[in-house]
Amino acid sequence: MILGVIEHDRGKLNEASLEMLTLARALGSPVEAVLLGADAAAFQETLKEHGVSKIYEAKHEGLGDYAPRAWGKSVAQLVRAKNPRAVLAAGTDRGNEVMAHAGALLGVPVASNCTEIRPQDGVFEVTRLRWGGSLLEDAELRADPKLLTVAPHAVSAEPAPAPEIAVEAFSPTLEEADWRVRVVAREEREQKGVPLTEAKVVVGGGRGVGSAEGFKILEELAELLGGAVGGSRVATNNGWRPHSDQIGQTGVQIAPDLYIACGISGAIQHIVGVKGAKYILAINKDPEAPIFQRADFGIVGDLHEVVPALIEEIKKVKGK
Ligand SMILES: Cc1cc2nc3c(=O)[nH]c(=O)nc-3n(C[C@H](O)[C@H](O)[C@H](O)COP(=O)(O)OP(=O)(O)OC[C@H]3O[C@@H](n4cnc5c(N)ncnc54)[C@H](O)[C@@H]3O)c2cc1C
Repeated sequence: MILGVIEHDRGKLNEASLEMLTLARALGSPVEAVLLGADAAAFQETLKEHGVSKIYEAKHEGLGDYAPRAWGKSVAQLVRAKNPRAVLAAGTDRGNEVMAHAGALLGVPVASNCTEIRPQDGVFEVTRLRWGGSLLEDAELRADPKLLTVAPHAVSAEPAPAPEIAVEAFSPTLEEADWRVRVVAREEREQKGVPLTEAKVVVGGGRGVGSAEGFKILEELAELLGGAVGGSRVATNNGWRPHSDQIGQTGVQIAPDLYIACGISGAIQHIVGVKGAKYILAINKDPEAPIFQRADFGIVGDLHEVVPALIEEIKKVKGK
C-alpha cells in the first residue's frame, strides 16, 4: 500500500496533495491516505475521485491546526501500524517539514521535491528538484519505507476514481513536547496594491536598503510603476519586510516583466526566485556584484541616490 499524507489548512484541501496522488497511483499499489485533524467526510468524495481507497482519520483535539512535530509523529505512528511500501506528501513547506519529522522518528531518509519516481526491485530511483529548481538531481532511496515529497506542479492532478472509499479512525499518542511548535494565532495581512506574484513590475530590496524606513523609496517607485515590493532574505530576516515578501528559494518565485533589484548582491538562492523575470535592472554600488551578470540593465551607484533620481524622471515622464 502507498500512503499519501493529505495537506489541508483548517479543513481546506491543498491542491498539491491531489498532484501527489497522481504520482502515488503510478507506483502500482493501492493508495490510501492519512488526514490529520480534519473531518474525513469533507474530503471523502474528492479523495475517492483521485483513487484513494481508504482514509485514516487521525483523531486528536490539537491536530486541527498545523503543528509539524505532532503531524509528523502521527504519520510515523500510522506507518509503524500499517507498514506502507511508501509514504508521499506534497513538496510544500508543510509537506516537507512533516515528512522530515516522520523520517527522523522512523530513522529513514526522505527524498523531497521529487518530479519522477521509478521503482526498481526494492529501490526507488527518483529525480528531484534542488536549489529551488535550478538543478535536477537523480537519487536512489533504498531504506524502507520510502518517504518522498512531490514537487508542486511536477505532475497534474488527474482524477482516477476508486470504486470504494473506507474511513478508519486512529488516535495518535502525543505528548506535551509534540506541541512546542504549533500555530497559536493568525493575523491576516492587509493586501495593499498588486500581489507580489502577479505584479508586472517588482522592486526588490536587499541589505543595501539598510532599514525598514529605507524601503519607503522602493515603495514609491513600485507605486509609480503599478508594481509591488519584495526583498531578499536579508531584508526579511532583519524584519524590514514581512516574510511573505521574500523572493527566492525559500520565498516566493516571481515572473514580472521587470524586476528592479536594489542593493541585492545576486546570490543563487535569490536568483532562482526571479528566473521568470523578462528583464532585470540591477542597482548596486559594487560594480563586481554578481547580480550584474544576471541583469539586462545595470546602474552602479548608491540606491539612495539612484532610486530618488529614477522617481523624479518617471514623474516627469508621467507628468506628475
Ligand atoms: C538554504 C538557503 C536558502 C536561502 N533562501 C534565500 C531566499 O529565498 N532569498 C534570498 O534572497 N536569499 C536566500 N538565501 C540567502 C542568500 O544566500 C543571500 O545571503 C542573500 O540573498 C543576500 O541578500 P542581499 O543580496 O540582500 O545581501 P548581500 O549579499 O549582503 O548583498 C548586499 C548588496 O547590496 C549592495 N549595497 C550595499 N549598500 C548599497 C547601497 N547603498 N546602494 C546600492 N547597493 C548597495 C552591496 O554591494 C551588496 O552587493 C538563502 C540561503 C540559504 C543557505
